[in-house]
Amino acid sequence: MDYFKLNNGVKVPALGFGTYQMPASITEENVAKAISLGYRSIDTAQNYGNEAEVGAAVNNSDVPRDQLFITSKTQTSGYRSTLRGIDESLQRAGLDYFDLMIIHWPTIDNLSTYRALEDAYKEGKLRAIGVSNFNSKKVQKLIDHAEIKPMVDQIETHVYWQQNKMHDFLDKNDILHESWAPLGEGMSPVLGEPEIVKIAADHQKSTAQVILRFLTQQHIMVIPKSTNPKHIAENLDVFDFELTNNEINIIKNLDQGHSGVNWPSSMGQEAY
Ligand code: NAD
Repeated sequence: MDYFKLNNGVKVPALGFGTYQMPASITEENVAKAISLGYRSIDTAQNYGNEAEVGAAVNNSDVPRDQLFITSKTQTSGYRSTLRGIDESLQRAGLDYFDLMIIHWPTIDNLSTYRALEDAYKEGKLRAIGVSNFNSKKVQKLIDHAEIKPMVDQIETHVYWQQNKMHDFLDKNDILHESWAPLGEGMSPVLGEPEIVKIAADHQKSTAQVILRFLTQQHIMVIPKSTNPKHIAENLDVFDFELTNNEINIIKNLDQGHSGVNWPSSMGQEAY
């Protein structure tokens, strides 16, 4: 496993396990499987309805809590409801702290919502805080007016929307770029892109592995999701090879510069 460092010094696995649209009834077994294979970072959210099952897998695992990195996301707006929501998430998951809590999507008053994350961070309930689906203007507002700079922005990022402008902006501000839908949510034909198929064959890897390596080599954290045991194992096995500059440039050229799902609209390239 490779690790990145957040701007508050916290170490974060470069690759984690996503749980969006994973039914609660199968989440604990899948997260337990992922942890036993070597995943050390799990991504859940209040909105996913599976925080309790993620927490159960963490608490029933042989891996010490301090070697795991658990992320959740708020779905509330404003100070009080967000503070309450964080406590409810901790209680649901049966955890003393989250390693990262991010605002799931922009709210009416981002500063008040974010202030709740700051206060929970100061109390030790969160080891790191950040945002998701925030464009550069919204992140800049937090940099200018919040007390604590966000540590992460989790945004849709894959081969067809590489988010180069956001990446440069986040990099310049020492905020980690985290990709959601690194494999294009499995909806797009990206896994069959002929150029990537060729690169994968040259490295004796799958196209999914090449894409995950492409992103992590550029200092982008990834959290691919799967419930297929073969894919769960495959997605983790990406740190024993390196793409050449030429291969990276070939994949860079596949960027289409727009979202695959067009959500939220405030993230559009033109709204950067
Ligand atoms: P993803 O890009 O991880 O794709 C998941 C799909 O790809 C799976 O359903 C599976 O069908 C397929 N897949 C996975 N591994 C494969 C492999 N090795 N070979 C072939 N097919 C494979 O999409 P995602 O789940 O939407 O995104 C990853 C995670 O990001 C989510 O689970 C969630 O935790 C997070 N997320 C966050 C937001 C947000 O708004 N912050 C939005 C969407 C997702």
